[in-house]
This record gives sequence, C-alpha cells and structure tokens, in this order.
Amino acid sequence: MAKAMVTDATRMAVLTKKGAARARSGHPWIYRSDVANAAGEAGDVVRVVDRAGRFLGRAFYNPKSEITLRIATRDDEEIDEAFFRSRIERAQRYRESLKIDAGAYRLLHSEADGVPGLVADRYGDYFVLQVGSAAIERRIGWVLATLEELFAPAGILLRGDAAARRREGLVIKVEVLSGEVPDSVIVHEGPVRYRAGLRGGQKTGGFLDQRENHLAAASYVRGRILDVFSYAGGFALHAARVAETVEAVDASGPALQAARENAELNGLSNVAFTRANAFDLLRERSDAGGRYDAVILDPPAFAKTKRDLPRARRAYKEINLRAMKLLAPGGTLVTCSCSYHFSRELMEETLRSAAVDAGRTVRVREWRGQSQDHPEILTIPETRYLKCAVLESL
Ligand code: SAH
Repeated sequence: MAKAMVTDATRMAVLTKKGAARARSGHPWIYRSDVANAAGEAGDVVRVVDRAGRFLGRAFYNPKSEITLRIATRDDEEIDEAFFRSRIERAQRYRESLKIDAGAYRLLHSEADGVPGLVADRYGDYFVLQVGSAAIERRIGWVLATLEELFAPAGILLRGDAAARRREGLVIKVEVLSGEVPDSVIVHEGPVRYRAGLRGGQKTGGFLDQRENHLAAASYVRGRILDVFSYAGGFALHAARVAETVEAVDASGPALQAARENAELNGLSNVAFTRANAFDLLRERSDAGGRYDAVILDPPAFAKTKRDLPRARRAYKEINLRAMKLLAPGGTLVTCSCSYHFSRELMEETLRSAAVDAGRTVRVREWRGQSQDHPEILTIPETRYLKCAVLESL
C-alpha cells in the first residue's frame, strides 16, 4: 500500500478554544498551552483549525518553542517561493512609499510584514538577515532567491547570533549566505554618514528603528547637548550639526571609538566622547549643578520581561529625573524606551513622577515611536515597542 504523502496542506494543528479566539483576534503567536493537538517537526508548515475543524490559517510549527505556532497567513495558501516573493514585494512597495532618505532601512519586520521570524535590513548593496524561526531557516533559499532577483545585492549576511534563536532550537552563527559581505559599510542617514558594523555591531549594524527620531531630535535641540547611551553616535551626529557642543556618553569603548570615527567622517569637531556608566555620570553631573540645553536618553531595554518591570521603572525614573534636573530653562529632553513591556502609559507615569521629584514643569512637545519601516500591526501589540518623548523644561 502506498504511503500517503504528507504535505503542508495535510499537516494539522488543532487549537483550544482560547487559542482559536487568539488566532481570530489577529495575533499570530499561539502558545503551547493553547494548542490542543499537533504533530510534526520544528519548521513544518501546518494548517491551523479550531476544534470544530474550521480553518484559521497556516502556521510555522515548532514544538521546541513556547510560541509553538506562528500564523503566517490567514488564507489557505501554499507557503512556497511565490508566497515569499509576494510578501517581499509588498514590503518593498511600502518602503518605497516612505521615501526614506537613508542608505539603510528595514525591508522585512517579521510578523509586521507577514514573515514571522524573519528580519531583513538593507545596508546599501548588502542585506543582513535575522532568522528567528525554524520554518524560515528551512526555507531561506526562497528568501535569498527573491532578494537576489529583486535587488541584486552584492552580498547577504545571516546574523544568527541572537540568544532568542536557542528558544527555537536554532544554532548560533554568523555566516555569509550569498555573495561577499564586508565587516562594515558606510551608509547615509539624511545629512549624516555613518559606518555600520554588519558582522559585529549591535542589532544588524545600526539602530534603524531610531532613524526618524535621530532626525526629529535634531530639529528640537541646540546649544550644549548631552547624548547619553550614544552607541556609535546615532543621535549625537545629527545633533552636532545644529548644536554648539555634544558630549556622547557610553559605557562601551568600541561604541565610542565608532562614534569618534563617525564624527570625523562627517567633519564634526564639536563632539566629545566620555566613557562612563550613565547612572553614575548623570548623578555626578546633576549633583554638581551642571546645565545643558538638551539631554538625550536612549538606554538599552531595561525591561526584557514583565518580571523586570519594577526594577526597570526605578532605572528609567532615575535617569529621567537626573536628566530633567540637568536641563537649563527651556531645555529639551529626548527620552526613549525600547522595552515593549514598559508601556507608553507606564513610561508617561514614570516621567510624570520624575518631573515631580525634579521640581520641574515639563511640557510635552511630541510622543514618537519607531521608524515607519518597522511597522506596527494593530492586533499585535508587541510590534509597538519603541517610545520616544520630546519634552521641554519650562
Ligand atoms: N542611541 C543609540 C543607540 C543606543 S543603544 C543610537 O541611536 O544609535 C544603547 C547603548 O547603551 C549601547 O551602546 C550600550 O553600550 C550603552 N549602555 C548600556 N548600559 C549602559 C550604562 N549603564 N552606561 C552607559 N552606557 C550604557
């Protein structure tokens, strides 16, 4: 007797009532406890149904992951090369509509572009990919073929060094998938140029999600500026073009060295670089009665999980309280948080409490989010993670 062929269309995952409700609410992540019954291997594509057998979508299956199913489509369509091509074409049409004045941008933002677990950042002639799902890893050939056909890049690099890969049972590696890829490239961001470390830099080489905020911040600031958590100068370089002086502060020597080289690349001689722990430096400067026309705070995610929240809130409050005290009258605070769990509401409450303790009247100029090439999907709250408030001390 011939063995029935197992295809994407025949593998099935049945959701519990709760799981089905979640899928219907438009959230693509289905946790293990919401899966009633499923079979297959990590990286398989399965049809997702409710207990009555009603179709809910096709999903990437990974029994090793807490997020056991990632719904890739709510249509009953094959997940084949044409699927990836249409997602990538749609993503590119959207980026083109943004008229991004930069050499680096995010082409694919995982779930928010309908490709769960796949991030693709473009740096000029190169692409840097982050793969966080076994299903994408198995089908990466289709992604590469499409990128090559549509963009003819000089090289494509996999940055498979995010710890999250372990949760999917993927090995940690950084490797060239196609063509040749240099260690770093110079790209522009509006009027500024910077060197992005594709292999060794943070994320895929730059904080592309802050691109619009880098430009926006420069439209508010002037005078003497303190850029804390500066990394390679994302904010500092733009600010230095309009300010008298900028002091870039970071705990990382290599980050500051990169910032120094970027300042030189732009012919900016009004940037100073200070290696310090931000908490200590902010406390010392505010105790000493220092004053700045603008302070920029862009810390790493203090709350990686919900459990971190109480500690994270104290840390955000501390740096913002010190920064507010450091502002001269009329001074600007640009303050960011990239922690999803530290919500906009909680950040607002924390800033309010910092303003009270600093004894300052603080005007809200603007609340901003991540750059538009990192889209937010209304029904996936996790896609809205970056907050950037522009405040003014009266
Ligand atoms: N503002 C940058 C991105 C900042 S990323 C941009 O827009 O490009 C966060 C930075 O904070 C990293 O460079 C990291 O080295 C630095 N950092 C983390 N903890 C720190 C601390 N306690 N004190 C100073 N810098 C710190």
